[in-house]
Amino acid sequence: MGDQRENGRQQILDVIRTTESIARIDIAKATGMSPATVTSITAELLSAGLIEEVAPDASAESRRGRPRVALRICGKARLIAGIKVSHHLISAVLTDFVGEELASHEMPLSQGRMPVQDLCTQILRTLEIACQKGNLSINDLSGVGVGIAGMVDAERNFVYWSSSLDERNVSLGDALAQVLPCPVFLDNDANLVAKAEHLFGEGRTCENFIVITIEHGVGMGIVIDGKIYRGSRGCGAELGHTKVHLEGALCQCGQRGCLEAYVGDYALLREANLSSGGARHATLASLFEAAQNGDAVARSILDRARRMFAMGLANVVNIFDPSKIILAGARLSFDHLYSDKVIEEMRHWVVQVDAPLPEVIVHDWGDLMWAKGAAAYGIEEVTTQTVKELANAAA
Ligand SMILES: [Zn+2]
Repeated sequence: MGDQRENGRQQILDVIRTTESIARIDIAKATGMSPATVTSITAELLSAGLIEEVAPDASAESRRGRPRVALRICGKARLIAGIKVSHHLISAVLTDFVGEELASHEMPLSQGRMPVQDLCTQILRTLEIACQKGNLSINDLSGVGVGIAGMVDAERNFVYWSSSLDERNVSLGDALAQVLPCPVFLDNDANLVAKAEHLFGEGRTCENFIVITIEHGVGMGIVIDGKIYRGSRGCGAELGHTKVHLEGALCQCGQRGCLEAYVGDYALLREANLSSGGARHATLASLFEAAQNGDAVARSILDRARRMFAMGLANVVNIFDPSKIILAGARLSFDHLYSDKVIEEMRHWVVQVDAPLPEVIVHDWGDLMWAKGAAAYGIEEVTTQTVKELANAAA
């Protein structure tokens, strides 16, 4: 009975959140609960301050002529933060409980890979500045969602390996809990982009889709039946570390022949500087410019990256057959991986059937949008936790 009530609370909060505002009778219809149960649970959520009543719009009267009072999530109920740890940048966004952005801050990092304590200090500092900017107190935070590249067990807030940390097997959630005043919810960064796409991006109307992120490395988020698929150890969806070459190029994960060892930023620069016999290209922009100016070596490096990436995309289609693939990244100005040529080449490697290929969409997110995905995860987890607390209080 208690469980049923807990599920009911969660279900009602979910319905209210997805509809923005909704009358009690429509909640009953949407959830299949009795109007009496809806009234009793919403009364509880109202008194807990999680939802609020919206004054009825006089022009939008119900069929019986009596204006209906709608309910919506109370934005002020909780303060949430989303963090995205990139290779040389930490982005933080603060949102209310509805997901409305209140403040943000981006902090450059002098090094990409660091000890766990240093990363915790940098995250805390970024959050403090974001709070200052928004005139908010860090102590008012109810939860922080954190997205980081690598193999992350979201259930245990545990990082097996990340290109941002200089050691393996790190309880990053525990380490962050030592410095932050609220619960921390950790996930792989590509999963959080997939969450952001599902909640407010290109995946809104789609229940089965794949997000592929290209940054320092190559990430993937899988959404099946509207839910993120994480694998049993939290190590799934590592498209960047699928093997495309036996005994091939060395990857930052320590193995050889991984896809990202051919298409990641670091891999391209490594190749470019190898072949020039020195540090000719310090940035991807410089390599890209050389290719555009007809430099044969630069062209061949980008060309191979494009073909490798197309092969990776085709493998994804052959395994998952998603209805949509969203290519997301902040560096889309380097369009060798996002061009029509890539899609064309992918076509050759996809198993041929008489049905249209999945739609491939390019979506240019900034780092702050990734942080927003992390905040959305924070909101979700804080909601679940709050519902549990209500259940315990009622027991
Ligand atoms: Zn690898």
